[in-house]
Amino acid sequence: MSGAGGRTVRQHNLALLMGLICESAPVTRVELAERAGLTKVTVTNLVGELIDAGLVQDLGTTQRTGPGRPAGRVAPDPLGPVGIGLQLEVDHVAGCVVDLSGRVRRRELRRADLRRMSPAEAVRAARPVLRRLFDHATTAGQLVTGIALPVPALFGRDREGLPLVRAVPSLGWRDADLRGLLTGELDALGALGIDVRIGGPVAFAAGAECRDADVLYVGGEAEIGAVLVQDGVVRHRSAGSWGHVPVRARGRACPCGRTGCLEAYAGRAAMARAAGLAETALPRLLSGTEPFAERLAAGDRAAVRATTEVARLLADALAGPLAVLDPGAVVLGGRLAALGEPLLDPLGSRLAEQHTSPPLHVGTLGPEAALRGAASSVLADVVADPLGWSDRP
Ligand SMILES: [Zn+2]
Repeated sequence: MSGAGGRTVRQHNLALLMGLICESAPVTRVELAERAGLTKVTVTNLVGELIDAGLVQDLGTTQRTGPGRPAGRVAPDPLGPVGIGLQLEVDHVAGCVVDLSGRVRRRELRRADLRRMSPAEAVRAARPVLRRLFDHATTAGQLVTGIALPVPALFGRDREGLPLVRAVPSLGWRDADLRGLLTGELDALGALGIDVRIGGPVAFAAGAECRDADVLYVGGEAEIGAVLVQDGVVRHRSAGSWGHVPVRARGRACPCGRTGCLEAYAGRAAMARAAGLAETALPRLLSGTEPFAERLAAGDRAAVRATTEVARLLADALAGPLAVLDPGAVVLGGRLAALGEPLLDPLGSRLAEQHTSPPLHVGTLGPEAALRGAASSVLADVVADPLGWSDRP
């Protein structure tokens, strides 16, 4: 029996159960049956297939104090397939291995000044990080399903509709074939046929932050971005240009080549410069904070002034998207969320004055959000087709 899109009911149910197990493990078969609306027998059979495929682990029974038989719980197999996220930043290359539970199994970091490098040199600088991540996965006997690279880029599309990097303003790159370069690097490492995908960091972070929400997610580390999330699904994964909407006539020059962009005020480089600091990414990745945030928390006047202005520009730049999209909430994540009350208070007040003014929430994932979201995104194919994903062309 075939369902929508030629998928059989069995394939649909396997994907449904795999998704539920990844989201809510450890979980019993009875709970799965309730949540999926399936019979216990069907769940038991399908979960058995997922266990045989090496995707799900039977954790055995737990002692229960109440009446009834002890419940057998299942979880994603910790030795199942993994995804890799790789991030090229102004002052480092970072990567991580994430499993089906969304847990980070391994982190790797290499300091490097990418602002002085071409895209090819930067991808080469990532080689030791990639090698250690792959070594970790293969030593553990885990299959790497793919690798995803969040890039704060202005994207176009190639002939197949895949995102094409037109420019990475924060690194001064233009027309960089990052997918091709990364594929070449993986070939050199002997990791052939690995799925390589590229997308906006904000979209990857939103996917990790907003699991089943209807929100406008605003975030970013190097650059500001916004994406719409509907029922937990991120729309327009490579939309990277919201930071470059004009907010000032005859405003500051932006690295994208235009003037008066939001980025030229709210971007990481611009805010660091406003407080007399050099742009860095590493301190926030390592400790969750950055020099600008520390200045701001200490009441530094230049930092406070810059932040208050950013709150106003941000709220005004959100007026258009809010009026058109009417999301259930705005979720602020990334670097701006970490600035705390000095940004959130004026931003909240200014947003409340808009005609369309949904509640403002703050994301909970730290500076790793995009990297983790990227690594998890390549595992989505496994969840969507647990027994067939490895047969895809
Ligand atoms: Zn710009």
